Amino acid sequence: MIREIPDFPKPGIVFKDITPLIADKDAFSQCCNEIAQYAADCDYIAGIEARGFIFASAACVLTGKGFIPIRKSGKLPGQTISQSYDLEYGQATLEIHSGLIKEGKRVLVVDDVLATGGTAIAAVQLLKEAGLVPTGLVFLLEIFQLGARSRIAEVLPGIQTHTILAE
Ligand code: AMP
Repeated sequence: MIREIPDFPKPGIVFKDITPLIADKDAFSQCCNEIAQYAADCDYIAGIEARGFIFASAACVLTGKGFIPIRKSGKLPGQTISQSYDLEYGQATLEIHSGLIKEGKRVLVVDDVLATGGTAIAAVQLLKEAGLVPTGLVFLLEIFQLGARSRIAEVLPGIQTHTILAE
């Protein structure tokens, strides 16, 4: 149910398209339930724009937690904290609202695909800068060849990384 679309959005990138999976009610529900299992010890679930929103918000409803959006640059209306980083296919900046969630609250981070790990590392750094406590990272799937796990372990020791689907 994950389609591979070659050369999207740039030549040489094989894009993992989750739209067949989320269109299937049983597969979508099963994935959201599995993600929700990692949310037992957090107060909030953060989703990374845009596809992380789909899974994180569903997991919030399943577990009774609030949702925190981690958005691309310029989208959040209030005061923000920003973090720029390198992507598998370019450069990007992520932002989070500052001063909105009480400091010390525990937050699980959810996204669809773990590629180089740059996005996930930036998300965790944003939470820390906002005074929040990251409890872990959960992805639908992981592109193992890009070595994100060892990069995350090195930069963010103590942060657990989980993937729902095996390749
Ligand atoms: P990275 O920072 O390299 O781990 O990239 C992860 C972010 O980029 C996630 O938000 C993914 O949605 C997206 N992404 C990176 N590579 C791919 C890919 N090959 N297929 C689908 N999404 C990707």
